[in-house]
Amino acid sequence: VKADQRGSFRFFETTLDASLREKRMLHKELIEAVEAEQFEPFFQPQVTASGEVVGFEVLGRWRHPNRGLVMPARFIALAEETGLISGIDEQILRAACREAASWDRPLSIAVNLSPIDFRRGDVASMILSILFETGLSPGRLNVEITEGVLMQDDGRAMSQLRRIRDLGAHLAMDDFGSGYSSLSYLQAFPFDKIKIDGTFVAQLGSNPQSRAIVRAIIGLGHSLGLSVIAEGVETNAQFELLVALGCDEFQGYLIGHPAPAAAYRDLTSAESAT
Ligand code: C2E
Ligand code: CA
Ligand code: CA
Ligand code: CA
Repeated sequence: VKADQRGSFRFFETTLDASLREKRMLHKELIEAVEAEQFEPFFQPQVTASGEVVGFEVLGRWRHPNRGLVMPARFIALAEETGLISGIDEQILRAACREAASWDRPLSIAVNLSPIDFRRGDVASMILSILFETGLSPGRLNVEITEGVLMQDDGRAMSQLRRIRDLGAHLAMDDFGSGYSSLSYLQAFPFDKIKIDGTFVAQLGSNPQSRAIVRAIIGLGHSLGLSVIAEGVETNAQFELLVALGCDEFQGYLIGHPAPAAAYRDLTSAESAT
């Protein structure tokens, strides 16, 4: 019995060690990756009800020399925990702004910023210097933030959001409806747009409650003068329902997957008059 106990204790200790070691290794690799600028923007199209492309959401990818393309789910949490996210977001923002500034058509880009960016640094100044450096017109930049940014009610987030808007960039509230206090934040912060969380869109066809919630979100957004975009649109049925409910913009695999800018050259270059 004693030997068994010791054995299982050792086993436990070993697996704990293994996951800790893996985390430390990932942390070390993340530091090197920021240094080596291995983060890049992918672009996913956003369209109107008539199918016209108005912009792209920017989704970060880690181009790892051996692991290949690493998705945000693998590295964002640790990057936030270690503060490395600020450097990563800055890298992705700079590359996305530079890319968009090179397009013939003045399409918008929507970048995701982490709550940690707002807690640790001066995000508005960072955005201003990147806009200046890349020459992207501020009106083409949307900044997507989640409730997590707004929950730090020390007034810092508010003042940075105001400054971002004063630059001429737009603010979108991401994952709308999935949090706890989205409504009070809508009243308190200067948003231009809300993005309906993908979980509601996914259940649109099968769940009457989801349809009621989506209808209410769109009505609420419009009555506050905000534009409403739906994410995670995968089927024609979802798209048509959202159009019928008055949603303004749409994004999802049905329209296009996130991909390097080169994949959407036909949409961003002048030759695409269609
Ligand atoms: P999010 O901002 O809610 O982004 C939407 C996620 O849904 C993206 O996952 C996107 O690739 C995926 N998606 C797009 N269309 C569809 C669809 O039709 N169906 C389904 N099921 N999914 C769809 P991704 O790229 O893996 O990003 C995951 C999350 O990581 C994002 O959620 C965002 O919170 C975070 N993230 C991504 N890029 C960045 C970044 O550059 N900086 C920061 N701070 N966070 C980022
Ligand atoms: Ca987003
Ligand atoms: Ca989402
Ligand atoms: Ca999210």
